[in-house]
Amino acid sequence: MYYPKESLKTKFCIEGNKLLYEYAKLKNISHKKTGKFIIASDESELANLEKIFLQGQSNGVDLRKSSLKEIKTKEPELDIAGALFSPETGIIDVPEFITSLEGDIQHNEGVVSFNTNFLSAKKNGKSFCIKCCDGNEFEIETSFLINSAGLGSENVSSSVSPLGEEFTHKIHYAKGHYFKYSGVNPFDALIYPLPNESSQGLHVGFDMSHQLRFGPDISWVDEIDYVFDESLKEKFIHSIHNYWPGMEPERLHPDYCGIRPKIQKPSEKMQDFSIQFPKDHKIEGFVNLQGIESPGITSSLAIGKYISSMI
Ligand SMILES: Cc1cc2nc3c(=O)[nH]c(=O)nc-3n(C[C@H](O)[C@H](O)[C@H](O)COP(=O)(O)OP(=O)(O)OC[C@H]3O[C@@H](n4cnc5c(N)ncnc54)[C@H](O)[C@@H]3O)c2cc1C
Repeated sequence: MYYPKESLKTKFCIEGNKLLYEYAKLKNISHKKTGKFIIASDESELANLEKIFLQGQSNGVDLRKSSLKEIKTKEPELDIAGALFSPETGIIDVPEFITSLEGDIQHNEGVVSFNTNFLSAKKNGKSFCIKCCDGNEFEIETSFLINSAGLGSENVSSSVSPLGEEFTHKIHYAKGHYFKYSGVNPFDALIYPLPNESSQGLHVGFDMSHQLRFGPDISWVDEIDYVFDESLKEKFIHSIHNYWPGMEPERLHPDYCGIRPKIQKPSEKMQDFSIQFPKDHKIEGFVNLQGIESPGITSSLAIGKYISSMI
């Protein structure tokens, strides 16, 4: 409901959402269809809430308008001006999901090479000669090369020869912090304030054990570091009190942070996923993924399916 109709984010998020529920059921991965409320904290936000509703409708997403009475019944702690309900939103245990994918690779006779750094790749006739390092440098030869290195995707892309410079996006680091809440979690569904161009807002989320947490914020940084900035607490308190006045600040504690690999600069509009194929860069066998930020997990199985069909 957040992205333009023709974008890859819309296409893969919608398809990936279905595939992920199917896969999680099949593989017994912990997950829950919690649903989510997208909220307008006050009347000035109602017009933007309506825009999201219309975008969702145009994208074919199941999205319902909630009455204030319904919100009061379902989430009595919220003090807001309006909300939409997305019934297909959910949570999944991501480490369980990734472990299951790793098992699939191994059952299909693939090898996952941990602690191995990709250094460079050079097209040699029909195959690539790839230099790697796991403490010792070694080379492998392959017909296909797929760059899905997240925060490292700029480095990887710029080390593929003979890829033109214009195909490598500069990656901008957008750090996000989460605070956890030590009290009882009063919410049944996830609660999302309105998004802006860079972030989906500082939302209410929880894990499979119902542990409540808030985040992520957005702080643009120049380097990859996972130091937690505790001074953000005041900003979090202010933002959460906009929709949950009963939140007790002394129960908020630093949890963790992550970094989004954005191909947009801080001042720019939201960018779509960037996936380049040989028809774009003319290097047979190479697929270049960049800017795979949220909703990258939701989209992951759909992206994988699409890439395998293309190669
Ligand atoms: C704060 C935050 C919140 C998010 N919330 C959501 C959400 O609610 N829903 C959602 O769908 N998505 C969410 N995402 C996005 C999601 O996490 C990403 O889209 C997803 O992880 C992208 O997967 P990937 O495999 O492309 O990249 P990554 O998960 O970043 O994996 C890339 C891998 O490549 C490795 N690598 C990098 N360089 C090299 C190299 N030179 N050699 C070898 N290996 C290398 C890295 O170590 C890493 O293991 C969130 C992200 C953040 C940061």
